Amino acid sequence: MSEALLGSLEAGGTKMVLAVGHADGTIVERAEIPTRAPEACVPEMVEWFGARDIAALGVGAFGPTAVNPASPEYGHILKTPKQGWEGYDLRGTLARGLSVPVGYDTDVNAACLGEVAFGSAKGLDVVVYLTVGTGIGAGVMVDGNLLHGMMHPEAGHIFVRRRNGDTVESTCPCHDSCLEGLAAGPAIERRWGKPGRELADVQRVWELESEYLAEGLVTYIMCYSPQRIVLGGGVMKQQQLFGLVREKVARDLNGYLCCTELDDLDSYIVEASCGGDQGILGGLELARRALETA
Ligand code: ZN
Repeated sequence: MSEALLGSLEAGGTKMVLAVGHADGTIVERAEIPTRAPEACVPEMVEWFGARDIAALGVGAFGPTAVNPASPEYGHILKTPKQGWEGYDLRGTLARGLSVPVGYDTDVNAACLGEVAFGSAKGLDVVVYLTVGTGIGAGVMVDGNLLHGMMHPEAGHIFVRRRNGDTVESTCPCHDSCLEGLAAGPAIERRWGKPGRELADVQRVWELESEYLAEGLVTYIMCYSPQRIVLGGGVMKQQQLFGLVREKVARDLNGYLCCTELDDLDSYIVEASCGGDQGILGGLELARRALETA
C-alpha cells in the first residue's frame, strides 16, 4: 500500500498547500494556490489532484469546521467571515470531484498527527501541538485519537491573566484576555509596534510572550496530561522562547506534578520537527487512514 500516491491538502485562510506523496511521509510534489472563494479555488484543486491519480486524500482545514463523521455537517466550514466559505461542504466537494476516500480534520489536528506520525512526538498517543502564528491553535491527540468532541478544541482561546502594565487591546474580537488575543503574532505587533521578527533582540518582548505561553501550556498540561507538547508556527521561530517558556512552566507547575516526563522539560516542550511540513505530512497520514478504512 505504501506505493499508492496519496494527496494532502492544507487548507488555510490565505493559501492552500497541495501535495502528493506516500504513506511513509515522502512528499513527491507540491503546489500552492491563494485561497479565494470556494467556487474559484476548489475546482482548481480537484483538477490538480485529479491529474495525479491519487488513491486517497487527507485534508487539514481551517476552522471552525465540523470534524465529527457523525455530524450532518461533517466536512463543512462553519461560521466564518471568510467570503463564500460559511456552510461550504469542502470535504464532500473534494470527495465527489475526485471519487477517492477523503480523511478530514482541522489544520492543527492534522499538524499534530504529522508530528506524531513522523516528527517530534513519534510513537506517543497523548500529545498537544500548539501553533503560535497569526493565530494560536491547538491540535490535541488523546489516547491515539485526534480530539473532536462537540466540535474541536479551540485551545488558543483559553483565558490567561494579563500581566501588570500590559494594557494592549486584545487582537481577538471575542475575548479581552485570551491566549491568542494577547500572544499571537498580531498581538505582539500591536503591543510593540513591530512584528516579532524585528524584535528578536528585545528581551522584554519575549519575557512577556513566554509568560502568556507558559500559562497556556500549564493549563494544557493540567487538562490533557500530554506526554509531550510540540510548538510550531511563525512566532516559535524565535528560538529564545523555548528556554523562557520551559523555565516559566517549571515555575508555575511549582512541583505539583511528579512525572518523569516533567523532569526533563527540554524533551517535554519541543519544537515542531517537520520543518513546517507537519500539516502536509499529517494530511498524508489522514489519507492513509482513509484508504485503510475505505
Ligand atoms: Zn479569543
